Amino acid sequence: MRLLITGGAGFLGSHLVERFLDRGDDVTAMDDLSTGRLSNLSPFFQNPRFVFVKHNVVDYIHVPGKLDAVLHFASPASPVDYARFPIPTLKVGALGTHKALGLAKDKKAVFMLASTSEIYGDPLVNPQPESYWGNVNPIGPRGVYDEAKRFAEAMTMAYRRAHGMPVRIARIFNTYGPRMRRDDGRAVPNFICQALRGRPLTVFGKGSQTRSLCYVSDLVDGIIRLLERGPQEPVNLGNPDEVTILELARLIRGLAGSKAPIVHKPLPTDDPKRRRPDIRLARRRLGWEPRVPLKEGLGRTIEHFRETAVPV
Ligand code: UDP
Repeated sequence: MRLLITGGAGFLGSHLVERFLDRGDDVTAMDDLSTGRLSNLSPFFQNPRFVFVKHNVVDYIHVPGKLDAVLHFASPASPVDYARFPIPTLKVGALGTHKALGLAKDKKAVFMLASTSEIYGDPLVNPQPESYWGNVNPIGPRGVYDEAKRFAEAMTMAYRRAHGMPVRIARIFNTYGPRMRRDDGRAVPNFICQALRGRPLTVFGKGSQTRSLCYVSDLVDGIIRLLERGPQEPVNLGNPDEVTILELARLIRGLAGSKAPIVHKPLPTDDPKRRRPDIRLARRRLGWEPRVPLKEGLGRTIEHFRETAVPV
């Protein structure tokens, strides 16, 4: 296959680039490098089947030759990043999705949207099935991401209905692993960096809010199955193993061998109280479920952060 991955220099994007290159596919990665990093792609620059293009997909996308699939993964994705880039986040979700869909239509390629559990907002049902419409504050600080992704889903389904295009929508729940940015502000890199430096772990609120964390290799398996097998409607991809944030902080502290204290900071506005994917659809249609237990995935991630540590 010949693929375009927008956001290819990001955390998920770069893992997808790696997996498709390993399979023998031709991959073009596109990224404006606002939150992605070229260093995530450095192992692949020698590969003749790999091309990198620095481009913001809000502007017209030109890719020469045929394409079999367009995977639209470009967007700031952590709450700290989209608070920093509110308007670019709205633009890439709306205008960028439009451009990527237009390209896929032109090339007669399969289009995949990286959607998110954030489209469920602060959910009133737990776990969240794909049929749940969500509970989103459109004007809060998270609205820039949540509504952009909701618009992106609407646009993707409209292209499917209007043009009969093959589409995929992956609703991606919290994912972690090597190549997360240390400063992206999310719980996993924050807690790991704090533990490794012997600094206090910052738990927001009481830490009773929950998340369900999927190791990146499991997520990539799910994305590939979704791309290959459909269905054309949204599919939740995530690990249903739900933990409180306080439990997560304690677990990471223990695995990192740290004795640092846990301190509590104010809970950010609209922080979802519970989040857990209902993955029955993915199990049934894709034959997929996560395999890497939380402790093992966190262990590998801590190891990666240790190996790539910047001296402090
Ligand atoms: N969080 C925390 N301490 C941190 C960073 C995050 O307690 O240093 C909390 C955050 O408030 C949220 C959860 O951890 O309840 C997961 O946050 P993250 O930014 O990783 O992802 P989200 O699921 O909110 O997009």
